[in-house]
Amino acid sequence: MGAEPIITGITRGGTSWTPQFVTALNEEKCIGCGRCFKVCPRDVLTIVQRAIDDVDLDDDDDDDDDDSDNSFMTLSNPLDCIGCEACSRVCPKACFTHEALPLAA
Ligand code: SF4
Ligand code: SF4
Repeated sequence: MGAEPIITGITRGGTSWTPQFVTALNEEKCIGCGRCFKVCPRDVLTIVQRAIDDVDLDDDDDDDDDDSDNSFMTLSNPLDCIGCEACSRVCPKACFTHEALPLAA
């Protein structure tokens, strides 16, 4: 019956909140823009180069900026995630999956 307790936090003002931890990153959708890496306060993410076979040499993506289809982000250290969701707020491709997690791993 009793639901398993989940990890919760509390704000400075005393309000309870539930961290939403990153549980997956869709590397296929990722465009390697690096936005998530810049905002993550922990050591969770690492950008890696795509294998040359996977690189789209005919990229007609007209997104502005610094996107790099040659790279993609990975979850190199997911256990360091604090569940702040900053990565998802800045990700233009909705690559991240988040979940509240039980206290006991
Ligand atoms: S939820 Fe926060 S700590 Fe976790 S990967 Fe995203 S930005 Fe980093
Ligand atoms: S913000 Fe999204 S698209 Fe950009 S590198 Fe991170 S996961 Fe990939």
